[in-house]
Amino acid sequence: MSVIKRTRSFPLVVLAAATVMGCPVNPATGERQLILISEAEEIELGRQVAEQVEAQMGFYDDPDLQEYVNQIGMDLASRSEKPNLPWSFKVVDDVVVNAFALPGGFIFVTRGILAHFNSEAELAGVLGHEIGHVTARHSAEQISRAQMAQLGVGVGAVFVPEIATYGDFINVGLGLLFLKFGRDDERQSDDLGFRYMTRAGYDPSEMVDVFDMLGRVSEAAGGGGIPAWLSTHPDPGERRERMAERLVEAGGSFGGQVGHERYLRVIDGLVFAVNPRNGFFRGSTFLHPDLQFQIEFPAEWRTQNMAHAVAALSPDEDALIQLTLADEDAIDQAADSFFHQEGIQIRSRSSDRINGLPAHAGYFGATTGDGTELRGLAVFIEYKGDIYQILGYTLSGEWSTYAGAFRSSLRSFDRLTDRDALHAQPRRIEIITLDRAMTLSEFAERYPSSVDIATLALINGVGEDDTIAAGESVKRVVGEGLPEE
Ligand SMILES: [Zn+2]
Repeated sequence: MSVIKRTRSFPLVVLAAATVMGCPVNPATGERQLILISEAEEIELGRQVAEQVEAQMGFYDDPDLQEYVNQIGMDLASRSEKPNLPWSFKVVDDVVVNAFALPGGFIFVTRGILAHFNSEAELAGVLGHEIGHVTARHSAEQISRAQMAQLGVGVGAVFVPEIATYGDFINVGLGLLFLKFGRDDERQSDDLGFRYMTRAGYDPSEMVDVFDMLGRVSEAAGGGGIPAWLSTHPDPGERRERMAERLVEAGGSFGGQVGHERYLRVIDGLVFAVNPRNGFFRGSTFLHPDLQFQIEFPAEWRTQNMAHAVAALSPDEDALIQLTLADEDAIDQAADSFFHQEGIQIRSRSSDRINGLPAHAGYFGATTGDGTELRGLAVFIEYKGDIYQILGYTLSGEWSTYAGAFRSSLRSFDRLTDRDALHAQPRRIEIITLDRAMTLSEFAERYPSSVDIATLALINGVGEDDTIAAGESVKRVVGEGLPEE
């Protein structure tokens, strides 16, 4: 989690009854489409999911980089068939190599994918591809299909907003509904991305390098952890071939802008891999250097460090512990505003101390919108001027199974004193301009990196023995990243 407070909860998106919009011709693809939601509904839906993306992943904290990515995206979008959508292009603070589009024009790239690009044209190619998903209305089409499949089946809204985080876990799945496109949709978006990047004057052959990079990322992951963009965007090899064919058909050489040096200058200093300042796990212990606390979650639970919350889900997925920063400045206020919500029944509550810190704890019952009865323990702790709210809750019938785990986890909140953890700094990309030609291996010896040579080759898009010309810029990775135990 970052130090940003969660100011609102985001309950599940509930679609209103579908309105049949007919089968108009899409200006980007020239095809007739059966779409059951209007463009205004599409934009509203995208906006709501975009808020969930921010709450879960958070934006990368670098206004200049955000501005740069947004400018390139806006330029491409202005050349699309839908220049007037409320387009926005954001960098999310996530390590995975990924980019995705939400209906209505909300487009995201991760800092993980930015670390792997080597030119502005590569970035423009991926943004153009994502713009293509929006202009071709792929997700709107998908929503329509989903709606048709479950017309009349409403998603239960959650009455108690604090408890909506159960929904956040569900929303990870909901998000994928929007992100997973079929092969034909991917081809179409590749075509549209090609169109938009050439209109903007970029060299489209750079997109071939993107597919090469994705293939190498996938190989490096050893098949186990396939990067998200690949699981939702199948077959980089096949798409690379198609992109190469497209280049030949269109007359081969384009000579558009590449922007290698310009791009590397912009990402100089970019955080690489996990950023320990945002908190990290050591086994089942969560440590947060910036906020200087630690907390122990039950062993074997599935944990997730989101931008506005840290959470742990039981293996049977029927109990959840979540830690957030409260909006209030005092413990009693924070506790009151939680316990006095509609739908919450207080069973008992009292002032307390947890590891010497002022606290307030209470047992509660809650009823969700679909009538599910929950029981839980809530703890509020004051520490370094912030109020922490930690909830543990489960289905009423499972209370006795989890009550002990909730108590020991919630009462494990404590000051972080481990010096290595407190001083941990992220790895960063540093750009070096070569004063003479050298191979990447020679470069790695002269300018050491804290990642291995294979990773260095991958992020620079070259082979270990490839020679890099004098005057060219190269990425290296500095800093130690996650501290050893
Ligand atoms: Zn795609």
